[in-house]
Amino acid sequence: MRSSAFAAGVVLLSLLGSDGASNFLRAQAAPASPFTPGRSPSQPIDEAYTRKIREYTTEPFFLSPLVDYLPASKTVPTPSVVLGDIAGAPNKLPYSKEVYEYMRLLDKASPRVQVVSIGTTEEGREMIAVAIASEALMAGLEQNRAMLAKLADPRTIGMNDAEATRIAGLAAPVYYITGTIHSPEAGAPTALMELAYRLAVDESPYVKNIRDHLITLITPIVEVDGRDRVVDLFKWHMAHPGETWPGLLYWGHYVAHDNNRDAMGMTLKLTQNVLNTYVDWKAQVIHDLHESVPYLYDNTIGDGPYNAWLDPLVTNEWQMIGWNNVQEMTRLGMPGVFAFGNFDTWSPGYLMFMAATHNGISRLYETFGNGGSAETLERTLSPSETSRTWYRQNPPLPKVMWSLRNNNNYEQTGLLVSLSYIASNRRLFLQNFYEKSKRSILKAKTEGPAAYVLSADTRRPGTQAELLRVLQKQHVEVSRASAPFSVSLPARGGRTGGREGGRTDSLANRGADSSARTTTRSFPAGSYIVRIDQPYSRIADALLDYQYWAPNDPQRTPYDDTGWTFPEGFGVEAVRVVDAKVLDVPMQRVTGEVRAPGGVTGSGPVVAINHNGDNALATLRYRLKTADMQAAEEPFEAAGRKFNRGSFLIRNVPAAELDQATRELGLAGYALSQAPSVKTHPLRAARVAVMHTWTSTQTEGWWRQALDVMQIPYDYISVQDVAATPDLNARWDVILFGPTGGSPQSIVAGLPMWRNPMPWKNSPETPNIGTWAQTDDIRPGLGFAGLANLQQFVSRGGVLVVAPGSAAFAVQFGLANGVGINSAGQSRVVGSLLRSRLVDDASPIAYGVIDSLAVLSEDGESFSVSNRLGGGGFGRFGGPAGRPTGRGTASDGDVVQGRPALEPRFEAPTPATVEPWQVAPLGDDAMRNPLNVIPPDQRPRVVLRFSAQRDLLVSGLLGGGSEIADRPIVVDAPRDKGHVVLFSINPIYRGTTIGSYFLVLNAILNFDNLNAGRKLDVR
Ligand SMILES: [Zn+2]
Repeated sequence: MRSSAFAAGVVLLSLLGSDGASNFLRAQAAPASPFTPGRSPSQPIDEAYTRKIREYTTEPFFLSPLVDYLPASKTVPTPSVVLGDIAGAPNKLPYSKEVYEYMRLLDKASPRVQVVSIGTTEEGREMIAVAIASEALMAGLEQNRAMLAKLADPRTIGMNDAEATRIAGLAAPVYYITGTIHSPEAGAPTALMELAYRLAVDESPYVKNIRDHLITLITPIVEVDGRDRVVDLFKWHMAHPGETWPGLLYWGHYVAHDNNRDAMGMTLKLTQNVLNTYVDWKAQVIHDLHESVPYLYDNTIGDGPYNAWLDPLVTNEWQMIGWNNVQEMTRLGMPGVFAFGNFDTWSPGYLMFMAATHNGISRLYETFGNGGSAETLERTLSPSETSRTWYRQNPPLPKVMWSLRNNNNYEQTGLLVSLSYIASNRRLFLQNFYEKSKRSILKAKTEGPAAYVLSADTRRPGTQAELLRVLQKQHVEVSRASAPFSVSLPARGGRTGGREGGRTDSLANRGADSSARTTTRSFPAGSYIVRIDQPYSRIADALLDYQYWAPNDPQRTPYDDTGWTFPEGFGVEAVRVVDAKVLDVPMQRVTGEVRAPGGVTGSGPVVAINHNGDNALATLRYRLKTADMQAAEEPFEAAGRKFNRGSFLIRNVPAAELDQATRELGLAGYALSQAPSVKTHPLRAARVAVMHTWTSTQTEGWWRQALDVMQIPYDYISVQDVAATPDLNARWDVILFGPTGGSPQSIVAGLPMWRNPMPWKNSPETPNIGTWAQTDDIRPGLGFAGLANLQQFVSRGGVLVVAPGSAAFAVQFGLANGVGINSAGQSRVVGSLLRSRLVDDASPIAYGVIDSLAVLSEDGESFSVSNRLGGGGFGRFGGPAGRPTGRGTASDGDVVQGRPALEPRFEAPTPATVEPWQVAPLGDDAMRNPLNVIPPDQRPRVVLRFSAQRDLLVSGLLGGGSEIADRPIVVDAPRDKGHVVLFSINPIYRGTTIGSYFLVLNAILNFDNLNAGRKLDVR
């Protein structure tokens, strides 16, 4: 029963103070604040400000005694100094500049406030954190940090529990609040400006208790680039009454709401800056503010399944804090405050989750916003939002006027209740913080594993280093063995996390021989060891381990991806070692970033670099723009080494220059006295365009991000640019049309052309919209002119790469002959890693890509291929082979009644077996008038398919699978002189699928030789 989740979190209404009862408290729940919310009668209030609070709040019950007044101060300015009105005033959304200006005024005016810079965004805007506490705490920040550091890393006090208890009784916890990561959820900055003021100024016992015992840390704006753009848009909307206005197309420079899915890959600056701040301050909480659900949904408690790598101590803390929050706000008379809901806490990709995976407490509010507008609007809710349920006994109202001020009241009240709860129970939560940190260290020898080992003899040192750098960004310690060593591993079922090209047949051995329980594996010196006996072991384990989401899990709607196993997605091996002896291996902590070794060995006019799928190879091609680079079309041996198909042969680069470039990029070059005798073709630095629509720019952002990281230059163009460029080939060789939303028709049609133009343009009215993507009117789509231009681009030799969403567009509009799209049917996949198999390893698209790579499938989509136009799926008649309904068993033949058995001459030949990834061979009938038969050199060439059903699931959720297994997922569809390369999986996604990037990079580097190694059908 779902309600069992409630039990652990029942708030104990106790009148006990926080002192002198700690044993009792630790055994039970923790009490709400012993102080009554409300103003101090001895402190004057700011009458004018308070009047406006009441004026802008639409109903009295949308206020609480915590925020229905503003204390006055003679020295500290209120937010109105910067805003010109109070926080949450109608029609006022401040830019980051104004928010920062105010926070810095506070810093100047109050010894209780300090503003620090915590880094910049992709577009160079500043991120800040504001610390607020009593004068005494602020003066002792460093001593406090030093105490918290000991709790954060119990190794530093020799895991001394008594010492930890002593510190927990002295130190002040740090509660880190992060605002408006999702830019159209725009209310938090003003709420946080006012909250900072209250915390600095209010002398009520309730607030003073917080200030005296806890350090509040606030990043008022997480997504600063998006913040300034959403304010631009809102101002544009206000300046153009009666006109339609665009939604916020670009939030951050790369992605929109996916900026809150980056806490695994850590690719975005905002993620890195927030985690660095959390770790640096040794904070206990990250509390992230969102706005989409009425009126306050504390979704930290959420629903199952819970993330399986977390300490139950933290999941119980969610319950305690969350239910206290609901209880206290209900007590204050605010309707619509609830927890539980439908958010599962499985994925650790959310920003707030960085606290949970780093021994703290993750928290998240959804309050009610007006979608990026600061207007006061009438809001009508759906019955599902206003119904009374067991976890929402006091639901939101069906129809109310809703203001930004209401939202700010809820945000501030909830935060004050939470701050008060942690301040009043600080000893308990600091003790928990210590225990969670300690248990993360002990984990190596209790639940395990002891370590993950990444062998020095990897085939892919560059990608291995990239994986280890992700762990380093997560503040995970990485060590390196100084001598060879061996560990014992389970003989079977010891899934190692990631493959480097081994075949999957070994899975057939599962469950075979249980007599041989262990096996020994040796690793060379220099192998990397990720020890689990370290404070941040949980994030390492969560990223390197496998995920299993049961198809019959009661949670039917996973909130995000269900599988993410990093070694699999990167295509490198990380061996999960339970054998604790691995911890005694001689090793050294790695200082500085992990980098793969590189450089050129030997001398000679030709330098060979093995194509191992390390993405730095593509970077090298563009760095040495004028170099002569060739791809070997067959494997070869040289310099006593084996080189894969696709390996680079480089000429005419000064030795020192090539040595330096390969050293910096972690690529191993071997100089040869003469070129190997192998067929080659040129690898050119293709001119790349990334094409986007004006309706869906989220998921393609990860592609741009990846290209920028790899330093591969590209032009960022819109469908409108393509419509206006008849000769696309003159400008580009490859057009990448990444994953996109919307129907194929909407890509061509764009938005409705009625009403007014909607500019997305850098202008005096909207100065924060980037010049890197702009248009006078976002409404027109690709149009038929653009479609014709694209068709011609491919026909003349261009390469168009398409992905989920854009692949459907290419198929629907006839750009990809013989390719169809299959949904998963009855099978279920939700953001899972599935096993792939190489079908045609001679295709340049497959160069360096390992067999049995794990690929990210959002929903199980796949392709089917045919050698006839419109020619359905596989099998003789376009469907799977099998006998029709009739007499006998499944393998018998039918018998027609009333006539003799057929003579052999009437029997049709037995059709050839056609696998789901193959095209059915053509019969004589088809060739009699082959109008719809695609000529052999124009037929789709399948590069990659899903594996057999038995091996299909790598990580996450897979229900069924028969409609997915064995189907094509990467197809090269020639069209006249060019190619359309189709992906049904997303090869470039959230920085977590590094192993499949090269499928796209190969299409770029081999754009004019994609037919290499192709075997044509005879008819
Ligand atoms: Zn949000």
